[in-house]
Amino acid sequence: MSANISTAYSQLITKLKRAHLLETVFGLLGWDEQVNLPPDSADIRAEQAAVMAEVCHEAAAHGDIESLLQTLESSHAELTADQRTVVRHARRDYDRLTKLPSSFVAERAKWVSSAYHAWAQAKAANDFASYIPSLKKHLELARKEAELLGWGDRPYDYMIDKHDPGMTAEKVNALFSELKEGLIPFVRQILASPQRASTRLFQGFPVEEQRHFLREVTEKLGFDYRRGRIDVSLHPFCSGSGADIRMTTRFHEDEPLDSLFSSIHETGHGMYEQGLPLADQGTPLGQAIGMGVHESQSRLWENQVSRSQAFWNYFEPRFRERFPTQTAALTSDALYRAINAVEPTLIRVDADEVTYNLHIMLRFEVEQQLFRRELRAEDLPAAWNRLSSDILGLTPPDDRRGVLQDVHWSGGAFGYFPSYCIGNMIAAQLWYKVRADLPDLESDFARGEFGRLLTWLRTQIHHQGRRFDTMGIVKQVTGEELSPRYLLRYLRERYAPLYLN
Ligand code: ZN
Repeated sequence: MSANISTAYSQLITKLKRAHLLETVFGLLGWDEQVNLPPDSADIRAEQAAVMAEVCHEAAAHGDIESLLQTLESSHAELTADQRTVVRHARRDYDRLTKLPSSFVAERAKWVSSAYHAWAQAKAANDFASYIPSLKKHLELARKEAELLGWGDRPYDYMIDKHDPGMTAEKVNALFSELKEGLIPFVRQILASPQRASTRLFQGFPVEEQRHFLREVTEKLGFDYRRGRIDVSLHPFCSGSGADIRMTTRFHEDEPLDSLFSSIHETGHGMYEQGLPLADQGTPLGQAIGMGVHESQSRLWENQVSRSQAFWNYFEPRFRERFPTQTAALTSDALYRAINAVEPTLIRVDADEVTYNLHIMLRFEVEQQLFRRELRAEDLPAAWNRLSSDILGLTPPDDRRGVLQDVHWSGGAFGYFPSYCIGNMIAAQLWYKVRADLPDLESDFARGEFGRLLTWLRTQIHHQGRRFDTMGIVKQVTGEELSPRYLLRYLRERYAPLYLN
């Protein structure tokens, strides 16, 4: 490699890392807003955020990056494979940031804020009609954005690709159709079963003890608390990057499993970030692939691992020790059934891991129709309710519990929902692969050991950064294309013994 190429590459890395560091500062402001902000300090925080957004944009969209990229692209043959990966992704990120005129970005930012309030009000008042103008505007902006970036003929594919690189509506459609075919009859079978798990078994679990227990669990799983922490917020989330991860949870005295499992979920996200190579932080070699793969990590730890019998063989005695009076009348069988309860609900965020996928299929179907212009915003509630009845077997009594329930569209986040279900499919496929690679893995869990699993995930996935796209990493790790077969098999193996025997 010639000296000027080598210099250009290291200059590019320096620029990317600087932009990333600024992003992490911005991220801390956002975390602080959710966790610590005094009630009357929202205005100054909004101003701080606006300035930081500008600073971050300037750093990431700097003209020097364009000229460095051009230099490196014109000497493609001289670059190593990893350097090509970095240049390719840096180009993609840079173009997506700079091809949108600032007037468009400003208009969209204004709409995101006002549409959020319109959505929150419409939901509170159960008044979908008042939300229609905002939704239409967001759809129009989404099409415009796709067009500006050269995806004018495939706006919905653009939206999907934004969250899961390389994915298209057609691929998602094929995966979901096969999943749906197996899943709907299975859910119907479970519902027809006389076996019902009671989830109302928990009362008066002191928050302080819950906090200790979930700390013990997440630490055992492998979350590194020397470069991360967990706090309380209204909605759980995970933010930050490898060197400093900020997770949140919430507590209810009568729902100890809610905070536990949501913390484990965020821990899965956090451990993915902690596993990305620290030296490459801020460059595509130290970044996550996309939403679907991220979600596969959180779901794998939350579902395949932490809802398993082996996991509870180890943690149940500890749970009882922390909560002796609260669990005195609770049998092991009832606890395990509560952990794995299947109960269809109208609300996606309350759904169990079996029926959750149906909620996503509904949203994917609706989004596709909107982007194909087969459905008008005005007709959304009717279409939603019809699909809800077909897919979930439940019809929302009002829009608040139907089409208005999710925040995503109010932020213009179309094409985001499929990632959740893609994550579930990837998690299941990894689950079968890792157990083939590491015999007796579940007996580790029964001893409270999770290191072999985490090391496998680190080597196979986390250390790869963005070297592969969503489908590519699955193929690379499992040797097969992504398939819903594994999710169907896993759900059957986990839930048939509980419901169909
Ligand atoms: Zn998640």
